[in-house]
Amino acid sequence: MTKILTNLDKINSQIQTAQQRSNREATNVQIIAVTKEVSVERTQEAIDAGLIHLGENRPEGLKQKIEAIQANVHWHYIGSLQTRKVKQVINEIDYLHSLDRLSLAEEIEKRATKPVKCFVQVNVSGEQSKHGLTIDDAVTFIESLQNFTKIQVVGLMTMAPNTEDETIIRSVFKQLKQCQQQIAERGFAHAPCTELSMGMSNDFEIAVEEGATFVRVGTALVGNERGEQDEHEK
Ligand SMILES: *Cc1c(COP(=O)(O)O)cnc(C)c1O
Repeated sequence: MTKILTNLDKINSQIQTAQQRSNREATNVQIIAVTKEVSVERTQEAIDAGLIHLGENRPEGLKQKIEAIQANVHWHYIGSLQTRKVKQVINEIDYLHSLDRLSLAEEIEKRATKPVKCFVQVNVSGEQSKHGLTIDDAVTFIESLQNFTKIQVVGLMTMAPNTEDETIIRSVFKQLKQCQQQIAERGFAHAPCTELSMGMSNDFEIAVEEGATFVRVGTALVGNERGEQDEHEK
């Protein structure tokens, strides 16, 4: 078995256990393999292991992988997206995880040739270094997208703060879930908002316990070739 298959088996069983712990067996959790730090070859290995959701965070990396890989997979753009780069990526991807401002929505409306599945990025913890709207602004922002024909708000996305404190991480995920439910209840045609993109290598089990439907896993799944390279050089 390749390393990725071994990692995937482990992650799948961790997800399952987390679902059982929290009585969320009915939730369908999709793994997005974050390939931003690895080569085309390693990305192909992830696809061969059965992964169909792939995440990139730069237009260049996305382009390189899409050109090299012909497989029928779903591409997720998980990084913050500069308005001037929208035209390079928006018609190449299946999901955008970083919708966080009106100017970005307007550019998508102008450039997209078909509706794009978007996650609105929320900065629950309020950390300065993180992108995203506050929880309060997210609701108003989503309301303001009603007349956009190319934007479908499928859910909310967040990144947990960089801390070892599980209580803080869990609280962030809980708040995102509450906000998602509040928006879903509004029944907007343009914003079904049923999905939650939360959880990375270090915190995906907590995210699954709190209701994640998409986890974005890089290091624990496909590794980080830059980091591994550094190890060799030591
Ligand atoms: C890099 C990245 C991930 C994956 O991080 P890991 O810790 O390697 O699993 C997930 N989400 C976003 C937005 C990222 O930039």
